[in-house]
Amino acid sequence: MSRVIADQVLTVAPPTFSPAEAAALARELFGVDGVATPLDSERDQAFLLDGDRPAILKVSNVAEETTRLDMEALAAQRVAQQDPGIPVALPWLVPGRDPADGPAAYRATVAGPADTHHARLYDRLPGRTRPGATLGDDAIRDWGTMAARVGRALRGFWHPAAARVMLWDAQHALQLRPMLDAVPDASIRDLVGRTLDRYEAVVTPRWPTLRHQVIHTDLCASNVLVDDEGQVTGIIDFGDASWTALVVDPIGVLETMVVGRTGEEAFRSARLAIDGYERVMPLEAEERGIIGELLGARLCAAVVVPAWRSALYADPAALQAELRGEALDALRLLDAAGWDEVGRQLGGRQPGTAWTVPDLAARRRRALGPALTGLSYARPLHLVGGDGAWLIDAEGGRYLDAYNNVPVVGHGHPRVVEAVVRQARRLNTNMRYLHETALEVAERLVASTGGELDVVMYVNSGSEANDLAWRMARAVSGDRGGIATDHAYHGISEAISALSPEDWGTRRRPEHVRTWRPPDALRGTDAALADMDAAIGELEAGGHGVAAAILDGVMTSDGIVDLDRGLAASLVDRVRAAGGLWIADEVQGGYGRTGADLWSYRRLGITPDIVTLGKPMGNGHPVAAVITRRDIAERFGGESDFFSTFGGNPVAMAAALAVLEVIEDERILSHVRDVAGELAAALRALAGRSPAVGDVRSIGLAIGVDVVRPGTTEFDPHTTRAIVEGMRERGVLIGTTGPQDSTLKIRPPLVIRAAEARLVVATLDEVLAGLRER
Ligand code: PMP
Repeated sequence: MSRVIADQVLTVAPPTFSPAEAAALARELFGVDGVATPLDSERDQAFLLDGDRPAILKVSNVAEETTRLDMEALAAQRVAQQDPGIPVALPWLVPGRDPADGPAAYRATVAGPADTHHARLYDRLPGRTRPGATLGDDAIRDWGTMAARVGRALRGFWHPAAARVMLWDAQHALQLRPMLDAVPDASIRDLVGRTLDRYEAVVTPRWPTLRHQVIHTDLCASNVLVDDEGQVTGIIDFGDASWTALVVDPIGVLETMVVGRTGEEAFRSARLAIDGYERVMPLEAEERGIIGELLGARLCAAVVVPAWRSALYADPAALQAELRGEALDALRLLDAAGWDEVGRQLGGRQPGTAWTVPDLAARRRRALGPALTGLSYARPLHLVGGDGAWLIDAEGGRYLDAYNNVPVVGHGHPRVVEAVVRQARRLNTNMRYLHETALEVAERLVASTGGELDVVMYVNSGSEANDLAWRMARAVSGDRGGIATDHAYHGISEAISALSPEDWGTRRRPEHVRTWRPPDALRGTDAALADMDAAIGELEAGGHGVAAAILDGVMTSDGIVDLDRGLAASLVDRVRAAGGLWIADEVQGGYGRTGADLWSYRRLGITPDIVTLGKPMGNGHPVAAVITRRDIAERFGGESDFFSTFGGNPVAMAAALAVLEVIEDERILSHVRDVAGELAAALRALAGRSPAVGDVRSIGLAIGVDVVRPGTTEFDPHTTRAIVEGMRERGVLIGTTGPQDSTLKIRPPLVIRAAEARLVVATLDEVLAGLRER
């Protein structure tokens, strides 16, 4: 046993004062009268004194160094000072001493039969100790929360005595190995050995990077007092405080809750304890990922240490024997579940990747049905991570995302993510209560229109924004006719699907809708104005009138088409002359995609009546909006009250504000101009030497590349698809668009870097070369 470098105190028997002697000591040293009742204590002697002010007398083990006693007093005082709501037992000043002398003023010296001991008096707090298994759900969570508060209050606390070896502190778990000899049962030795092997493989390499500080280390049943409801009334005994990983404290709580519970109930209680802890102190992903193994190590200590100590004294305390039994059961439960399952049960691990892509696709079909849009690419992607313009699949493969316009400021942007998490943690409600972020976002959006539009209404998707805009246009115009481009897409609601020819499929054009064809530079056709005149004429003749025309400023679904200012102004004029409103759908072109302005319509020199926002507004968090003029909102408000449960909720608004800030801080507009300029030039150069590439249209980072049969202007959807698949196989994601699906859609997050943009072109070059060779 001498090989073990465990804490010395554990190897020395506690002092042996009788209750009568203890009462006499309390009177003599602290002037306190009372009957002394002995309490359980592993290394010291502790007595309950039932005097006028109840107190606990602690007589320390001779091996206990005074610096540790001092740390205990200082740690308790620190916690009480930092978080006065935590009920901690504080030490009493020795009569006649000066608190300015520091912790030494709180301990007195007593001579025992063989040695000198230190005596201290601590507050006796209300409540009693109770095994974790007897606690209800609220009490479990409360215990977890209290543990987190203690940890938070001790943050930044340091004392030299905190660098020490406590065997239930998981950092010393491997020191249990040599002690295993003391466990008589070979199967238990195997179980502990296996658990420690797992710990060594999984935890040891990660240990140095875990958050460290001085913590209590032992917030278990014997150190936490509770009332009849199980609410925490006292945290006692900071005598084991150590410098170690912060996560050791919640693990102590988990141990307390798991021991004595069986099966699913053990895991459920553990999860509730973690919930309680994370109310105050969210765990980091690295900590969560090893919770199971840490709990296993702690249970090993609960099995091995009592066995080892009873072997030392040949006098096992009844309590220790009992704990050993239940800790062992808990350890067996984890072992039987398997570590991956334990990790999953405790919420630390993503579900494993046991599912293959084809299996997941079949499961998707079963669960989500046939109406859902198909998966992208012949070999679908199972994506699990993202960073900037990159996506990561379940196998760790990296893909350059040159397709996704939602995460304008990049996948997982820390400012946006943290804004969402912080607000979700604080509060999420709705627009029936006041909250400032929604107002700040609205004021910024209004300012971004140059003040031409001055009212903002929040919804949750581009479809909803367009649906609301359409209702407003109908209310204001009194008409019901709508005009969109030939192959537009504006959303999923009944009203908006009617205005989305791309979505009509086999359905006939709705009676109240007419379309116009955008100019086609490659073929030199431009019938836009004539189409518009015909549309208006037909709608009027049909008795529908014109409620609104809606236009995606970069015409994504029409193949990404630019409009010149003169034409744009004429189109708007004609619609207005017919009594209709102009809706600028900025779901695609907004938030800086053009590089010219935050909104694509502004580049056209027009002033819409209503602007709709969506996709990029929350960088992936669902949030959308309508911006309009006060008089329009008034007319609409006059006929219906507007409220959307999630529209404008504080979490969505936190995301929206963060996106606007990042766009400014990262100078996204000028970045888009630079990268898009280079990318478009490189694509045009590529088009010059690739007969299959017809026309390259770049409106900032909305880029359409027509694919044609070589030497003709004939579209070639087959080759277009082959190119997109080839790019995917080489790790670059793009899509297709246009009426014939014969246009490559290159529409990356706006933060794409120049080198990444070059990779898109180089990969396209490679794919085109490969196709020529076939
Ligand atoms: N408008 C445009 C121009 C769009 O591209 C889309 C979506 N592709 C929408 C509206 C609808 O947005 P959501 O999918 O958020 O409803």
